[in-house]
Amino acid sequence: DALLNKPRFSLLADVVARYFVLGVLLVASGSGIYWYVVGNPAWFSIALSVLVVSCPCALSLATPVAYTVAVAAMRARGVVINSGACFERLAQVSRIVFDKTGTLTRGRFRVEEIISLGDMPESALLDLAAVLEQGSRHPLALAFERPITREVGEVNVVPGAGVSGTVEGEHYRLGKVDFATDQVIPVPAGSGTWVLLAGKRPLGWFRLSDEVRPEAKAVIEALSRTLPVSMFTGDVSDEAMRLGHLVGIQEIHAGLTPADKCMRLEQYQLRGDRVLMIGDGVNDTVAMGVADVSLAISPVDIMVQEA
Ligand code: ADP
Ligand code: MG
Repeated sequence: DALLNKPRFSLLADVVARYFVLGVLLVASGSGIYWYVVGNPAWFSIALSVLVVSCPCALSLATPVAYTVAVAAMRARGVVINSGACFERLAQVSRIVFDKTGTLTRGRFRVEEIISLGDMPESALLDLAAVLEQGSRHPLALAFERPITREVGEVNVVPGAGVSGTVEGEHYRLGKVDFATDQVIPVPAGSGTWVLLAGKRPLGWFRLSDEVRPEAKAVIEALSRTLPVSMFTGDVSDEAMRLGHLVGIQEIHAGLTPADKCMRLEQYQLRGDRVLMIGDGVNDTVAMGVADVSLAISPVDIMVQEA
């Protein structure tokens, strides 16, 4: 697709080249005819010289060659391009937006702490969470992976909020506090992402920790030298601030739903910014569609890099 969707500069070169070729042919044959009529025996060499000297090869070959080489060079670095226009757009970018979970962090969560709010033991809370998270592809869900012992009814995944489902006749919700319950309860202190499991009442908190990608700080530092960098996240603001501080991002927008992320991007664009969105493709694909250029980090790439 990338090779078929030629970038604008390449198309322009094609158009110019077409008229250029016609022009060159006319000028070459014109000068040949002129010198023939004048009686110069070298008329043919003259026409040929004009043709050779003004060959439009550079014009019609250089851009596609540069472009093809760039695509190949990026592929060698593990970057797959899906539209030729991305090079032109990348050159115009005036702001970079990072997603947090799975992008600045590895997206490999571990359950660090469990706080039971009722009489349900920790292992039962974990079991329930595992059952509910079966249907989710969010990196958070992997932290709960364990052998499933219970049957679950229909599981509903709400992007940027959590999961809900029916287990043995009871309806449960697991995720952000305001998604899990209507009750107003404070999020416990402690670094990490806190998710709440609730049935009719809140049942327990899980504290999940994720690792910051080791290269994140250096990358942000390098990028911030030329462009403003911001972070969008669906996570609550405490954890977002902590991570932003760690990697050196000042402009942080936390607690965003996937739709909020799009709205924020459009606000930047209304102000005249061209935005590059870097995400993991989980819960931020819509924002990636809105951004002028997007880059998705694939878990497969990460494995290849480490191998
Ligand atoms: P980010 O923008 O940082 O990538 P998301 O928008 O994917 O984060 O998710 C925002 C928040 O929603 C998470 O921090 C978590 O609290 C909650 N959440 C999302 N998906 C799930 C899930 N499958 N299970 C539990 N909680 C979830
Ligand atoms: Mg994410």
